[in-house]
Amino acid sequence: MKRFFNVLMLVCAAFVTMNVMAQTAPEVKPKPKKFHGNPDYYLEVQGAHIFRNADVALDENPPMVNATAARKAALYCLDALHHDVRYDNSEAMREFANSRINKLVADLEKPVKKGLKIYKVYNEGMVARTKSVTVAFDLVRGTYLARRQHAGTDYRIVTDEQMKAIVDKCDVMFLSHNHTDHIDRWVVEQFIAAGKPVIANPEILANVDGVDHWRDDEGIFTNELVLKNGEKLQVKIFPGHQKPIRNNVPVITTPEKYTISHTGDQHDRKSTADWIATVKDNAPKIDALIVNCWTPNILNTLKGFDARYVITAHENEMGHSIDHREAFWLTFDKLKTTEYPYVVMSWGEWFSIK
Ligand SMILES: [Zn+2]
Ligand SMILES: [Zn+2]
Repeated sequence: MKRFFNVLMLVCAAFVTMNVMAQTAPEVKPKPKKFHGNPDYYLEVQGAHIFRNADVALDENPPMVNATAARKAALYCLDALHHDVRYDNSEAMREFANSRINKLVADLEKPVKKGLKIYKVYNEGMVARTKSVTVAFDLVRGTYLARRQHAGTDYRIVTDEQMKAIVDKCDVMFLSHNHTDHIDRWVVEQFIAAGKPVIANPEILANVDGVDHWRDDEGIFTNELVLKNGEKLQVKIFPGHQKPIRNNVPVITTPEKYTISHTGDQHDRKSTADWIATVKDNAPKIDALIVNCWTPNILNTLKGFDARYVITAHENEMGHSIDHREAFWLTFDKLKTTEYPYVVMSWGEWFSIK
């Protein structure tokens, strides 16, 4: 009897072991055992340590006006890694993105009791939140490789699950212009399926039911948007361009009278951009201006909008080649003489405004 019991235990143990192995045995290519003679492996391990430390350092030094050297050090480490194509699509970068976006998703679970909270998801995918409304801009899942290379890979910087959780919290999405780093058809479909409005310029998803096209090429398009929850947004759309295509620049006022603007990929040196200098005269006082960091003559743009706070966006967009991924250090350098308080954020960070 005892012998039978022992055999039974062995069979059970083997069964459990096999099951555990079946569940936990991902396909991992064997790692070299030493760094000497394996420089790629050395860089892979070093990159993982830098990404993990940057993630913690950002938590310890959250988004702020007048960023400290400690915060800049974390952001500049990210610049170095995001501009080194050896890390594109790497396990270390995916782990970093996953960690940051998970933190953002967790924070979105908390209600905003007062003030305005601006979240950077990825690229110019942003979420602006007050007590009564949550407004999204240009949400995309993104990819880890320059556009020409990413065919055949399906890694997303923001996973489907994470993006669904973000969309779930949003009441509306505004889309600036028809470029793939700003328009993600799958994300748009999540909004439409939930009966939430999507407001775009006429060049974006022109014949898609559920996408409303707001724009006046000759001036300011003004409208009130009633959300599913009954709350109302006052919206003005300025006729921007990323030449030669149209780029909507909305100025949105929430029921609490917070006003947010998002410049999309505003890039137009010609006279059609004269409206920029007059935004401050034609809209309520802007509390948060979300601006593409590489817009031409950014210092003049900031004067035209005259916002209380500037939040930069579009740094380290992985779909571009490294010469146009844009670095955090470059943003700090461009804005070093501005008098406007500005905040530079990585993926999965947020900033509160009173
Ligand atoms: Zn862009
Ligand atoms: Zn663009």
